[in-house]
Amino acid sequence: MKAQHGIYLDGAWRPAASQDEIEVVDPADGQVIARVPAGGAEDIDTAVRAARAALPAWAATPPAERAARLTALRDALVARKDEIAETVTAELGSPLPFSQAVHAAVPLAVAGSYAELAATHSFEERVGNSTVFHEPIGVVAAITPWNYPLHQIVAKVAPALAAGCTVVLKPAEDTPLTAQLFAEAVHEAGVPAGVFNLVTGLGPVAGQALAEHPGVDLVSFTGSTAVGRQIAATAGAAVKKVALELGGKSANVILPGADLAKAVNVGVANVMANSGQTCSAWTRMLVHRDHYDEAVELAAAAAAKYGDRIGPVVSAGQQARVRGYIEQGIAEGARLVAGGPESPRERGFFVAPTVFADVTPQMTIAQEEIFGPVLSILRYEDEEDALRIANGTVYGLAGAVWAGEEAEAVAFARRMDTGQVDINGGRFNPLAPFGGYKQSGVGRELGAHGLAEYLQTKSLQF
Ligand code: NAD
Repeated sequence: MKAQHGIYLDGAWRPAASQDEIEVVDPADGQVIARVPAGGAEDIDTAVRAARAALPAWAATPPAERAARLTALRDALVARKDEIAETVTAELGSPLPFSQAVHAAVPLAVAGSYAELAATHSFEERVGNSTVFHEPIGVVAAITPWNYPLHQIVAKVAPALAAGCTVVLKPAEDTPLTAQLFAEAVHEAGVPAGVFNLVTGLGPVAGQALAEHPGVDLVSFTGSTAVGRQIAATAGAAVKKVALELGGKSANVILPGADLAKAVNVGVANVMANSGQTCSAWTRMLVHRDHYDEAVELAAAAAAKYGDRIGPVVSAGQQARVRGYIEQGIAEGARLVAGGPESPRERGFFVAPTVFADVTPQMTIAQEEIFGPVLSILRYEDEEDALRIANGTVYGLAGAVWAGEEAEAVAFARRMDTGQVDINGGRFNPLAPFGGYKQSGVGRELGAHGLAEYLQTKSLQF
């Protein structure tokens, strides 16, 4: 796999000060496919200084010029979409058709949406005797995970650039090659030097140095709740703004009048996509007791059909973690109806598509984020019981409701403590705000709400 041997600083690829390297591994066979720099605190410092130096000029650019750069960025990503899909497949392991249809395609829509928003958003408004300016918040530290490597980057960098902020990106150590392709696209798009900088590196080294850097005005983090908590504490002590997109344990609530087969099949597909490594996956399926046995049968059959077709999980560590949860589910008394802890292949970090029935709300597999292809099916007695179970975790990122009548599903969704709910299989909308209630996060990404995270207001009174 093609890799840059430097970090992207102040408009060029330059050698990192740190001599350390990250080995990039293909999860399908465990082989090392590339090496990239593991930047250190000195590299982060240089990158933040470059971003700060570039800030005044970029912040003062007319929004139409920022929109033009974002359009060029979208076009540069379009030109590389095949390379992006192949790279995501190589370092994340997702099957190529999924990499093409989702990993490479969704970021194009998001980048395009911010090109349009930069051009059309009102960065100035009148409120009584005041004029309110929406100004860029400053230098943004973007720290991203590996599960949707390009989407997570674009969902931060595109609105930040649209707002007039400058950025230092520290992508996940498992998927740095996709981040390098993104940096190449930024370069081609003619974004001025220093506006965007990329430092590949380890979380506790480069990530921490970036989150702690006094030259950063906003830390926008997507990842685990454990790391998010630490970042929020550091930022809080420095009175620095944070945006946090964290873990999830979303409920797929199937009400009695729903099309059961559709709800179950879509629900299983939702959990198995990306090998279960989706923060918003509906990993708890809630079914009324009258339909429970039928739903379990349908889900087991649907999962079995996936067989080998899902890709591996991202790393050996992730594979061990997911298998540990499956073993814990069995030990706590859940009934395995598909898959299990044995790896379906000898090589690579594969986990079998797994379904548990007779899961009770307090079991570990019903409470904790597994981040693998594992579905838990829970039984409820009535709607109030379903609501208690749906809301009964520390998370609140997403969810789904299925009902015979749309209005019934909407009424239930309005009572869920969660940031996004798909009604009867509603489609992903890249303009709708995405983000968590409770411990799933702080702030929102995507669309105009995502742009607002990177702006602060200044009011002038007349
Ligand atoms: P992670 O928290 O381990 O890592 C995320 C990023 O933070 C990586 O770039 C990592 O290098 C960095 N990091 C790690 N330790 C750090 C530290 N001490 N200081 C600063 N940065 C540090 O998460 P992950 O395993 O890469 O991703 C999986 C998690 O991300 C899951 O919990 C998932 O739910 C969550 N996620 C949430 C969303 C969302 O939008 N809410 C989206 C995708 C993933």
